[in-house]
Amino acid sequence: MSGDRLDLDVLIVGGGMVGATLALALSRQTDFRIGLMESRPPADLPQQGFDLRVSAITRASERIFRHLDVWESMLSMRVSPYSRMRVWQEGGGSIGFDAQSLGEPNLGHIVENRVIVHALWQALIGQGVVELLAGKSPIQYLPLTTGIEIETDRGDSFRTALLVAADGADSSVRSAMGIGVKGRSYGQKGLVSTVRPEMHHEHTAYQRFLPGGPVALLPLTDGHCSVVWSLPEESADALLAMDEAEFLLRLEAAVEGRLGAFAAAGPRAAFPLRLQHADHYVEANLALVGDAAHSIHPLAGQGVNLGLLDAVALAQVLAEHPGDAGRFGTLRRYERWRKGENLLMMSAMDGFQRLFGNDVSVLRNLRGSGLAIVDRVTPLKSVLMRRAMGLEGDLPHLARE
Ligand SMILES: Cc1cc2nc3c(=O)[nH]c(=O)nc-3n(C[C@H](O)[C@H](O)[C@H](O)COP(=O)(O)OP(=O)(O)OC[C@H]3O[C@@H](n4cnc5c(N)ncnc54)[C@H](O)[C@@H]3O)c2cc1C
Repeated sequence: MSGDRLDLDVLIVGGGMVGATLALALSRQTDFRIGLMESRPPADLPQQGFDLRVSAITRASERIFRHLDVWESMLSMRVSPYSRMRVWQEGGGSIGFDAQSLGEPNLGHIVENRVIVHALWQALIGQGVVELLAGKSPIQYLPLTTGIEIETDRGDSFRTALLVAADGADSSVRSAMGIGVKGRSYGQKGLVSTVRPEMHHEHTAYQRFLPGGPVALLPLTDGHCSVVWSLPEESADALLAMDEAEFLLRLEAAVEGRLGAFAAAGPRAAFPLRLQHADHYVEANLALVGDAAHSIHPLAGQGVNLGLLDAVALAQVLAEHPGDAGRFGTLRRYERWRKGENLLMMSAMDGFQRLFGNDVSVLRNLRGSGLAIVDRVTPLKSVLMRRAMGLEGDLPHLARE
C-alpha cells in the first residue's frame, strides 16, 4: 500500500446539483486535481415538457450560481421568479409575503432540477478543468496512508486525498464508510406534477397546510405550476393511481380553487419524505455534502439550498487551507461551520411540520391566530422571509453579494 501516488486531490461522488456546484467552486478557487463521478450520463434539457422535480432557489443560491457564471445559462433555459407567497391553512389563518415590501425584486426563483444540473455540467465541460467521470460508481474503498483508493463498476480505480459524498439521501459512499444517520420517516410522500391552471399564477407561490401535509403550487413559465403535495403514503399512492380528471379535481379542492380549474397535468411521481442527519460530516480524507449529509421536509423548499451552502463552504475552507485536501483539521472547520447551520433549519422545518401536520382543534385555532399576528407584524415577517431567502446566517463568500 502506498499513499504517495495520488491521482486526484478531491474526488466527488454524485454529480447532482450539489456535487457539480462543489466541483465548479473548487475548480475556481483551488489548484486541486478534481474528479466528479456520476452514475448517470449528464442530463440533457428537453426542448419541451417540464422536469417533475423543481427547486425553489433562494437569493443565496442565486448568488452562488451568479458567482460561478452559470446563472445566465439557467435564465436562458427556464427559470421562473416569484414575487409573492400566499400561505394558509384549513380552518382559517393566512399569511402573505411580498417582495416589494421587503425592497427585493423577487422572493426567489423556481428552477427545474434538470436545468440546474445541465447548466453546471455545461460549465464544467466548457472549462475542462475537472475530470468528468460520468456513467460510473464506486464499488470498493481501500484506505491508503494519505487518502482513499476507490474502484469503480467499470473496472478502473482512483486514488484521492479527499473523497466527497454528494450522492444524495441514500448515499452509498456514506454507508460504505460506516457513517450512521439519525432521523425518522415522516410517513409521507411528496407527490410532484406539473399543471396548467385556468387563472395565471401572477408569479405567486401558494401553499396550503392540510392535516395530511402541505400542498404547494409553484409558478413556472407559460402560466404552468409545479405541484408539490406532501401527504400520507397511502393517500399519495391513491392520487398516483387516479385518472387525470379526478386527480385535477382533488387538487383543485385541496387549494380551494385559488387558481380555478386545472386544465391539464403532466406525469405524476412521488418521493418518500424523511428527516435524516448524518452522525458526522467528516473524517480524515472524507466529507459529506448535500442530501448525503442531511435531508429535510420540502415544506419550505430549503433542502438543496442548504446543500449548495455546504458545497461552497467546503470549497472555501479548502481554498483557505491549501495543501492536503484530506486533512482532518481542515475538514472539521467545514463540519463545525455547516452542521450547526443545517441543524437550525432542520429543527425549524421539523417544528413546522409537527405544528401544522395535525388536526387538533386547539392547535388549529392557535396556528390560525399565530399566522394572523405574524402577518400584521412587519418586522417579524421580514426576519422570517430574510432567513428563508438565505440572506441571514454565516454565509460563505460565494453566497454573499
Ligand atoms: C418532493 C420534493 C420537493 C423538493 N423541493 C425542494 C425545493 O423546492 N427547494 C429545495 O431547496 N429542495 C427541495 N427538495 C430537496 C432537494 O431535491 C434535495 O435537497 C436535492 O436534490 C439534494 O441534492 P444533492 O445533489 O445533494 O442530491 P441528489 O439530487 O440526490 O443528487 C445525487 C446525485 O448523485 C448521483 N449518485 C447517486 N449514487 C451514486 C453513486 N453510487 N455513484 C455515482 N453517482 C451517484 C445521482 O445520480 C445524482 O445525480 C425537494 C425534495 C423533494 C423530495
